Amino acid sequence: MARAFWLHYHGVQLFNGWFSKGEPDLADAAKVILTVAVWTLKPRGMLVANKRNWRCEQAATLVFCAAVLAAAAAHGQTYTTVVNNGPSSNRVDMVFVGDGYQASEIDGTYAGHVSATLNRYFNTGLNPYPRYANFFNAHRVNVISNQSGADDPVNGIFVDTALDATYNTGGTDRCLYFNTTKANTAVNTALSGSGIDVDIRLGSVNSSKYGGCGGSWAVWSAQNGSALDIAVHEVGHSFGNLADEYWYSGTTWTGGEPGEVNSTSNPALGKWDRWLGYVDPDSSIGAIGYFEGARYNEFGLYRPSNNSMMRNLGRPFDAISRERFIQKIYAEVDPLDSWLSTTGTFLHDDVLWVDTVDPAVIGVEWFLNGSSLGLLGESLDLGTLGLSASQSYTVEAVAYDLILDHSNTGDSLDWFRLANTSSLRHSLTWTVGAGSSVPEPGTGFLTSVVLVSLLAKRRRREPGQG
Ligand SMILES: [Zn+2]
Repeated sequence: MARAFWLHYHGVQLFNGWFSKGEPDLADAAKVILTVAVWTLKPRGMLVANKRNWRCEQAATLVFCAAVLAAAAAHGQTYTTVVNNGPSSNRVDMVFVGDGYQASEIDGTYAGHVSATLNRYFNTGLNPYPRYANFFNAHRVNVISNQSGADDPVNGIFVDTALDATYNTGGTDRCLYFNTTKANTAVNTALSGSGIDVDIRLGSVNSSKYGGCGGSWAVWSAQNGSALDIAVHEVGHSFGNLADEYWYSGTTWTGGEPGEVNSTSNPALGKWDRWLGYVDPDSSIGAIGYFEGARYNEFGLYRPSNNSMMRNLGRPFDAISRERFIQKIYAEVDPLDSWLSTTGTFLHDDVLWVDTVDPAVIGVEWFLNGSSLGLLGESLDLGTLGLSASQSYTVEAVAYDLILDHSNTGDSLDWFRLANTSSLRHSLTWTVGAGSSVPEPGTGFLTSVVLVSLLAKRRRREPGQG
């Protein structure tokens, strides 16, 4: 959606909202010149435009108006949904912004960087992401910069980009980050009114020098050969709130217990004892333990595995990080998108149903009066159960991530050992009625006809009653 802008030929509000938020730049200067030119030339006719409707009258203004609208749409932030797996309210929504991409680079270079990153996450990526691909949506906000690249102060390189991306953030040369206020404004403007609830913020910078940083945003240099792994690592910080697991030689931690789940100051606290000795059959990461050296300190802090993705690129996530991502995913996503309302009493031959986010991930176990009928899938035809119409029953559906039941998935999906599994489950109970009058087909049809007829008459009378 184009950002809001207004254009009044006969008003002082000409071009209001079309200028950059933040410091004026060259593009703004060009617009000032254009504005003055239009004002001076005064093409005949009325020129009115806003984001909901626009109209241009007379040929002279029509051409100009179309050009203005195109320019505004290009300059203002637009977005493109590149992955749509379901309602934003029940998905993890990843939102990309790009910095250092000129207008001519949006559809090709930027779109390519975004799709390569998504491919790394969900197709060739690290566990747990591929398994949960259908739990995510992805959108890219198209931000246009005047120049390509990023500032590189150490090498004396400064370029004009929309979000001020720069290396050497905080004095660490490889820390490539950008102005998060501007990035958030770009996202909020582009997504305004879309109903998209942003869960992961990813910043793709059109630069080739190695670099990246993770804060509220995960930012990386998208032209670098390690770009995709940097992106995955930085999201470990921004989405998983994970600590780095590398350290600088000779440093000793003297603070308290870190808040991140993958770093501890004292193994006796047992922070990840539930995984102690676990060996992931799908990776070469080795047994989980307490390894000294983590979170920038060589001594006094411990990491869960010898060499995970949070220590070095090109490595897998360990069990603690993987479990953390699953926990974060379910903080945003309920196992069920929708279900048959449980209100009321159902008949002995009704079909009960739920709609899971992904039936390959979420199993649905059905219970009749507390006894399991098994993992029967997303619907249950009560007519197949031979229920008596004169008795009452309770039917329960328990939808849960199959990683919770190792008897079904085997140890290869032993991915979640936190005590609280409630967010990975969703249970529903329906009442199937005793003595429900279950009409014979003919009777039911006649009853329906009579009811519809009565309702129709009632509706017809209503206007007269008002
Ligand atoms: Zn890091």
